[in-house]
Order: sequence, then C-alpha cells, then structure tokens
Amino acid sequence: MINWITECVKNTNSRKYLVRAHKRIKAFQTLLDLISSNDIPALSRLLSNAKKEGWGTSKTCSQVVLAITGLYHSCNFTSLDKDLAVLIYELGGGAALYALNKAPISLPSRHTIAEERQKISLRVTVGPVKLTDIIANIEMLFKDNEIGEHDKVIHTLCQDKIAGDGRLCYLDDTDAIAGLCEHANAELETFRMGSNLTTIHAAVKAVREGRVHVGKEYSVAVFARHAPTDYGAKPVLLMPTCKHGSWQTAALNLQKLLSAWKLSPYGEIMHGSVKNIASDGASDRRRALYFL
Ligand SMILES: [Zn+2]
Repeated sequence: MINWITECVKNTNSRKYLVRAHKRIKAFQTLLDLISSNDIPALSRLLSNAKKEGWGTSKTCSQVVLAITGLYHSCNFTSLDKDLAVLIYELGGGAALYALNKAPISLPSRHTIAEERQKISLRVTVGPVKLTDIIANIEMLFKDNEIGEHDKVIHTLCQDKIAGDGRLCYLDDTDAIAGLCEHANAELETFRMGSNLTTIHAAVKAVREGRVHVGKEYSVAVFARHAPTDYGAKPVLLMPTCKHGSWQTAALNLQKLLSAWKLSPYGEIMHGSVKNIASDGASDRRRALYFL
C-alpha cells in the first residue's frame, strides 16, 4: 500500500515538473521568436539587466516587448557605449548621435554624456602656441595617472594632423575666436571678442581675402608612455592649421612641447623623460626635426 502511494506521489510530481518544463520551453521559444524577428533596442543591456535582477523568462519577454514598443529603455550604459557616443558626437555632431540614440544600438543621448565630456577639457591653441596651454593640458591628462610599480618610464612625443570640421567657434573661458589657421597670428591684432564686433569683422575680412584660413585640420602633439598600462596617446597640443606653416615655427613648437614636459610637475618630474620624437611626413616638421 505504502509503495503504491509513493508511486502515485512520484507520478503526480513528475506530471507537475513536466507541465512546468513545457511552460518554460514555450516561454523560451516566445523569447527566441521575439529576438529573432525584431530589432530590439539595446538588447545586450536588456539581457544584462535580466541577469542582474534575476528576471524569469516570462518577465524578460515582457520587457523585450516593452523595449520594442519604446516603453522600456535599458540605461545601464557600459564605458564603451559612453566612449562611442562621445566619439560620434565629436565627429558627427548632435544629429548623428540623436540618430544612433534612436537606432537599435541605442547609444546614450547627448544629455547622458554631458558629464563624461566635461571630465577632460583641453585647451585649443588660439594664436601662437603657448607654453601655458601645453602645461595646462599636461596637468589635465597626466595629473591623476595611476603610475603603479612603473613610476617613471620613457615617453614618445608624437605629432600628426587630424581632420577637423572646418568651422570657427567661440571659447567663453578666454572670450576668443578659435579655429583660424596659423596665418591669423600675423594678420589679426587680437582674437578676443570684447564688447563689439570689430574682431569678427576683421576675421571675416581676412578669411574672405584669403590672408587667413579656417583650419580644416588640427596639428596634434601627444605624449605616450612606454608602459604596460595607460600607454595611450594623450594630446597636449591641438592647433588649427591650413598646412602652410614654416619649419621655423614647427621647430619652435617642438621646443615648446619639450620644455613644457620638463617644466610641468606632472610631466618629466612625475612620469619620466621624453626619449623619442615621432612625426608624420609633413615637410615643415621634417626640417624642424633635422634642425632639432
Ligand atoms: Zn593659413
């Protein structure tokens, strides 16, 4: 009798397990159908949330449906998502980032990355290259560097050009116009806006007459650590250029970069000396390097 009762209980439990297993398989199939037949916004972030918060398959299906209809947004952005959004915003502007915020990749919005972008605020060169600007940029990028066991290493100073968006902008910190080429140093009396439109009229006239150009490229100088960690290129000079500078100016700028690294408490003193200089094939910089 006892054996018969035990057998009945076993059969009843098995039936319950079977029913539950069927329900689970059905829920998984529904989830698979949803994922395979729709562009789910931020799917990887949604699944990451499901794992973190312990959602069951049915709850995950419901959240996927909400995400498809735009009623659920996974905001657990990774550092890669934020870096990518900052890069898209800097290269393509607000419209490009808005499009990718609404696309299935669902990158963070401009509002979300605002804080990220303010963490590093580099000085752009306006007028002649200034030691103070380079030293300020060195402090911004090398002050909080985690040195670890490799406290002092050798560094390479690299120079190259990057494409810009070919437009001028206003720097409210210094009340100056930025984005004009190196010829503006000789052609304009000042870059400061002041309280009238004199500087703007002078800049517009010089650009229209071809004496000054709107820099479509930036001459960039970086210091790079030779270390197992944190060895990325860190830009300390960003200068709009029309690529018609002299080799004498290029040599002077190189000397300013090396001096700034020596003078800054966050340069050679903290991280070690510059042992190499690397450059692109620009003729002015090539002559400047031979000269140096
Ligand atoms: Zn120029």
